[in-house]
Amino acid sequence: MDEPLASETSIRTGCPYCGVGCGLSVSVAGGRVLKVRGDREHRSSRGEVCMKAAALPPTVAREGRADRARIRTRASGRFAETSVATAVARAAAELRRIVNAHGPDAIAFYGSGHLSTEDYYTLAKLVKGFLGTDNLDTNSRLCMASAVAGYKRAFGADAPPGSYADIDEAEVFLIVGANLADCHPVLFRRVAKRLDAAPETVRVIVVDPRRTETCDIAHSHLSLRPGTDVALLNAMLHIAIREGHVDKPFLERRTEGFAAVRDAVESWTPEVAEELCGVPSAAIVDAARTFARSRKAVVLWAMGANQSSHGTAKNAAILNLCLATGNVGRPGCGPLSLTGQPNAMGGREVGALAGLLPGHRSLSDANDRNTVAKHWKVPVERLPERPGRTATEIFAGLEDGSVRAIWILATNPAASLPDLERARRGLRRAELVVVQDAFFPTDTTDLAHVVLPAAAWAEKDCVMTNSERVVTLHRKAVEPPGHALPDWRLLALLAHELGFGASFAWPSAAEIFDEFRTLTAGTTCDLSGVTHARLASGPLQWPCPSGEHPGSERRYEVRFATASGRARLEAVQPHPPAEPTSHEFPLVLTTGRLGPHWHTRTRTRWSRNLENRAPEPILEMHASDARRVGVVDGGFAEIRSRRGEVVAQVRVTSEISPGTVFLPFHWTRLDGPEKSANNLTHAALDPISKQPELKHCAVRVRALRSPEDGA
Ligand code: SF4
Repeated sequence: MDEPLASETSIRTGCPYCGVGCGLSVSVAGGRVLKVRGDREHRSSRGEVCMKAAALPPTVAREGRADRARIRTRASGRFAETSVATAVARAAAELRRIVNAHGPDAIAFYGSGHLSTEDYYTLAKLVKGFLGTDNLDTNSRLCMASAVAGYKRAFGADAPPGSYADIDEAEVFLIVGANLADCHPVLFRRVAKRLDAAPETVRVIVVDPRRTETCDIAHSHLSLRPGTDVALLNAMLHIAIREGHVDKPFLERRTEGFAAVRDAVESWTPEVAEELCGVPSAAIVDAARTFARSRKAVVLWAMGANQSSHGTAKNAAILNLCLATGNVGRPGCGPLSLTGQPNAMGGREVGALAGLLPGHRSLSDANDRNTVAKHWKVPVERLPERPGRTATEIFAGLEDGSVRAIWILATNPAASLPDLERARRGLRRAELVVVQDAFFPTDTTDLAHVVLPAAAWAEKDCVMTNSERVVTLHRKAVEPPGHALPDWRLLALLAHELGFGASFAWPSAAEIFDEFRTLTAGTTCDLSGVTHARLASGPLQWPCPSGEHPGSERRYEVRFATASGRARLEAVQPHPPAEPTSHEFPLVLTTGRLGPHWHTRTRTRWSRNLENRAPEPILEMHASDARRVGVVDGGFAEIRSRRGEVVAQVRVTSEISPGTVFLPFHWTRLDGPEKSANNLTHAALDPISKQPELKHCAVRVRALRSPEDGA
């Protein structure tokens, strides 16, 4: 182990939180992280950081960290500390028993956009190449899957066309279902700076049922009814076509499918859209003209569009608007989906989701299976041919007994999945639950049989890719506590126990990355020219096909990645939400993030500063709805859906549409059984992306005299 640093040293690394992927400069002394600042040299963030990154030091201290392996003893049901080797051996023996008795599809692995590319690659190789199942998915399915499906269907590849640099040139920003101010703060500031630089020409339009802080810089806020985005976007395209703002030369040369889309949006007049969306037709016309007249229009979107039972259709509607107006493939324009997690993109690069193989390859393609099997030096028959279970399908399998074991890495599904009671029931029924995590306890470790201690941010060298395809080297600054190890090392130990150790015997993360990057040569995510050594001098943006290549700021300038080279527009129509409101459950619940917190607070709860800024979940409710149920501002309420209940304090506001309530999802059952928003949400999926509809379920609200008066 390295000696603790005697005097203060500065180390360049990346942020472990959101997909903006800011570069950080970390001050370290005496083996401790002292301070975190922005890295001025990092191309994605240019020295900016938000409050979460600045509050990182207390999260790498010992409190709340998983520093020992633990096994639950049969006699007491309590955890006993043990060595990592013993815990891995016990877990491996159970996995082997279950696979021998029930086949490889009786086990599943569930990862996270927090894993590094090297962790992810090790996981994909072990599960798909050696264990013979594709039951590997991650919490990125809850976050980005609909955007991925949208990109693939329209452009032929899972990759945004442009870069953050486009923000500095854009003249129109259409922000759909994204609260940048809270969730992607550094990009929010970049948009605000662009507006400050050209206040006469730049226009910002926000589409969101809530009036969030993002609306502070907006010229127009289209406060639509939740779930009606497709109707609104179709109406905007209707206006663009009717008023002659489509880019005909671009459509003719570079795209296909426009005629069907034109027919599909013909009936979506702004007046018809107003009926469904609740947005005045004049505001729709104004937004459509502003967007469609510009050849420098950027669309930014996130979970508000993606977390839907028709999220893929919403993404198609966004991309149709960009393509029809020629706003793709040039500086200052284009669609740019915002990733929630720091390395969701990396997980897809290495194929660590159901249905994928490394290099954006498909498990269903025989050539792709052959190429990967050869690289991994395994018989191709060992690779599964059928796509495995996606996130919520894995937990449904645990519930019905078709999946018997689950290995969970760097995530907290017992708090973050929709319809929590059902997900937790699945975990309770499992014969084996192994959790690799940097934090202990969590809601999920509470249901585990084996807990393995993982190294966290600043405790390992690794690579992550942000929302704009920029790859950053995250450097080790301090030693992990106790027995904690990087996730890939824990997986390599498992591989060794299972008899595959020789294929996982890398000495460091750099060698794992080398094995992975060569497998991407010639693919739609070509990282073959990226190495840890090159990244030590600064981040690189893929595609980067050789050691001399400077990286690619823009894609699809000449041709798209489809077979024809043309982008595909796709006719889409709005669908009703999976769970409409009713007499019994008359309000729509939408859930989301707050600026100070991250996911289920496994990390941010250890920063007093962040906790003080948002100590409790608060329900946002429109004044007219609050009056109807007798709830007062600052009072308490019970929020109930068909699946469970939550008790929360209420903020009565006019900043949310009547009929809609908002609850943040950061609080979990560790904070109290009635604090988790996912007690209420449901698990209906988009049929293509398999992303759950976390943004829309039907609830009722009842006033309480006190929190104790509740469920
Ligand atoms: Fe980290 Fe995102 Fe904040 Fe940047 S904006 S510092 S990546 S949390």
